[in-house]
Amino acid sequence: MLEIKDLHVNVNGKPILKGLNLTMGEGEVHCIMGPNGSGKSTLSQVLAGRDAYEITGGSVTFRGKDLLEQEPHERAGEGLFLAFQYPVEIPGVSGNQFLRAALNAVRQYRGEDELDAAQMMKVFRERAKQAKIDLASLKRSVNEGFSGGEKKRNEMLQMAILEPRLAVLDEVDSGLDIDALKIVSDAVNAMRSAQRSFLVITHYQRLLNHIVPDHIHVLVDGQIVKSGGKELALELEEKGYAWVEEHTNTVA
Ligand code: ADP
Ligand code: MG
Ligand code: MG
Repeated sequence: MLEIKDLHVNVNGKPILKGLNLTMGEGEVHCIMGPNGSGKSTLSQVLAGRDAYEITGGSVTFRGKDLLEQEPHERAGEGLFLAFQYPVEIPGVSGNQFLRAALNAVRQYRGEDELDAAQMMKVFRERAKQAKIDLASLKRSVNEGFSGGEKKRNEMLQMAILEPRLAVLDEVDSGLDIDALKIVSDAVNAMRSAQRSFLVITHYQRLLNHIVPDHIHVLVDGQIVKSGGKELALELEEKGYAWVEEHTNTVA
């Protein structure tokens, strides 16, 4: 599904990712944890294809193709979805308009017919029901004036409707109360399947009480320094990131 090899990335000339390696199979849920400033959001921005991030080495292969060569819309067409720590507001564009355009763009990329408004609404209803999210937010401008929880719910709705092969969720849990956390984790759990993978990025262990990953990786200073199963989260909770920095898998 995703293979990242020795990825090096600079931001404003400063090295942030320093040889990151990650391999994810189909249907797997991986979690990246790490202290603030370790490069977690940088990784998600690079996967999204944001311009400000200069790739100075390494490769990213997504479903057999060179991801770094692809424009953002091509990445989406191939089945990549990103939910960001700070979702953008799009005043004047309703959630309905936004998602219709997004889904039709993905369908067009795949050589599928465009859906008209009625067909689209049917798809929205089915997929929202599957992910246990209501559609009310779609009438409003995208994220405008939404609370933190509403933004996250909206991102989960976008994910449910676009049906990605790989969903990257960057700190979807930050600033959420327990109800909002449950909406996010219910949506992810409802969408888990043998064909769909998730990369869940978080600073906090508590999300992993709701989304149980197959693999956990610890990112420190631009490198994955430790990987393990779900039990690694408990160990981290107990001992903190400093412990990992002292007991790493890698030879510095
Ligand atoms: P994390 O998500 O793990 O908290 P980030 O990837 O956001 O970490 O940031 C990693 C480092 O890169 C930090 O030192 C941060 O200040 C820096 N950084 C990230 N994005 C930018 C940017 N757009 N401009 C300048 N510095 C940035
Ligand atoms: Mg941060
Ligand atoms: Mg971050």
